[in-house]
Amino acid sequence: MTGEATVVKNSGSHYVLSALPEWRLFPALLRGRVRLKGSTATNPVAVGDRVRYACDGEPTLERPATITEILPRRNYLIRKSVNLSRQSHIIAANLDAVFLVATLYFPEIRLPFLDRILVTCEVYKVPATILLNKVDLYRAEVPDQVEAFRRIYEGAGYRVIETSARTGEGVDALREACHGKVCLFSGESGAGKSSLVKALDPALDPKIGDISDVHLQGRHTTSNYEMYPLPDGGYLVDTPGIRGFGLVDLEKEEIAKYFPEMLRVADRCRFIPCTHTHEPGCAVKAAVDAGEISAERYNSYLGMLEDDQKFR
Ligand code: GDP
Ligand code: ZN
Repeated sequence: MTGEATVVKNSGSHYVLSALPEWRLFPALLRGRVRLKGSTATNPVAVGDRVRYACDGEPTLERPATITEILPRRNYLIRKSVNLSRQSHIIAANLDAVFLVATLYFPEIRLPFLDRILVTCEVYKVPATILLNKVDLYRAEVPDQVEAFRRIYEGAGYRVIETSARTGEGVDALREACHGKVCLFSGESGAGKSSLVKALDPALDPKIGDISDVHLQGRHTTSNYEMYPLPDGGYLVDTPGIRGFGLVDLEKEEIAKYFPEMLRVADRCRFIPCTHTHEPGCAVKAAVDAGEISAERYNSYLGMLEDDQKFR
């Protein structure tokens, strides 16, 4: 038999597949050199990948399916290796939503950092939603800061959901936003990623999760990502050991393309290409002056331009 399924777990050359939206797990192996064209990643197949498989009858532990083809990816997130090998590791593919957990309390969000992550999401075409978490700790004291945060990011085109894993506020909205989607949570350590995931599904502790009785060999291999079904539909990709994903290196001229609110007006700049810094008749600068593009986001953009020059 042959079929198409999604990778829900990976450990070395062992995979667990399920034909989503159905949650019926079966093992599979990757044999030989099946690779997605042009990929230099250390893992040829990642959680979230859609694959074709073949098997002599129903796949079982003794007779796993064989992955024969990796179907084209809609998007993916990668982590760059820390050494200089230029290799990368695919965290997950075909994500429907990334939730970036941030908070105005501890660890206080640094907007330029958040903006860099958002740029990375744009580059990899992964839709990002911001969860402004722990609002129980500060919204009553600093309502104007919460409003300002909302204005900045909603103005840029992102959805902001105010959440509290403590009181449960916003958890229903989050649940709805996850519905039927393959989701990944990211954010600085301590922002509340695990607490929010637990609020979505109390039965699911991402740190100790075990998806099934399909036992994989090669438990010793590190950095296993896996996907869990959420109780109200949707799937969660858990990424143990990493809190974030790699930032991308971009050419200076490219950066503005990944600020959606700049991209929307940039074709009205007098000079094209335009760096949106010193050029006369720059539509982006005009939009910043008019308050249509937030000064904070524009500053993050300038910071990225500067860093780019520093590294050259
Ligand atoms: P992670 O590192 O992003 O997974 O963060 P955790 O979920 O482990 O949360 C870090 C700390 O913040 C823990 O002590 C949580 O109890 C606390 N925390 C998480 N979310 C909230 C929230 O909405 N309100 C309050 N008051 N504390 C929270
Ligand atoms: Zn311009």
